Amino acid sequence: MENENNSDKNELSLKNSDMLIKNAGGEKRIRLLKENVCRKLISEAIQCLKYSYSPYSGFQVGAALLTKDMRIYTGCNVENASYTPASCAERNAFFKAISDGKKEFQAIAIVGGKNGIIRNYCPPCGVCRQVMLEFCDPDNFYIILARSETDYWIYTLSDLMPAAFGPDFL
Ligand SMILES: [Zn+2]
Repeated sequence: MENENNSDKNELSLKNSDMLIKNAGGEKRIRLLKENVCRKLISEAIQCLKYSYSPYSGFQVGAALLTKDMRIYTGCNVENASYTPASCAERNAFFKAISDGKKEFQAIAIVGGKNGIIRNYCPPCGVCRQVMLEFCDPDNFYIILARSETDYWIYTLSDLMPAAFGPDFL
């Protein structure tokens, strides 16, 4: 895949190639993310933690979404005094990308923890999984749950959202 030749800091000047992924269900899939791509996404997600607006829960989340044309869109969680309007880091990353004209995605890295201290993996909530399903091929969209740039698991959206109701039903 060719990268556009510009200096946008969110552009990833890396190429994908086949490799074996590590997955909580066992190393079973050949996939398209290089380890350095995973690390870059995790790094971007970690850097986005500092923007988290989470004065009520104190739980900071950062996400970095990779488009098919190798752009990265980050997102953080944004809470609200009225609670319900809160939005997750993952959805904010998706909506930023979609608002920028992107609709094809490869992967998302997610990190999170109380007060920004990452102690465990931070899986996406059900609502975010549903949003991912709207735009992503469940068998070919990868969700990277990370504790650091070297400590992570990769799932497909199918792994995390079996028997899902998606656009194909309508
Ligand atoms: Zn969510």
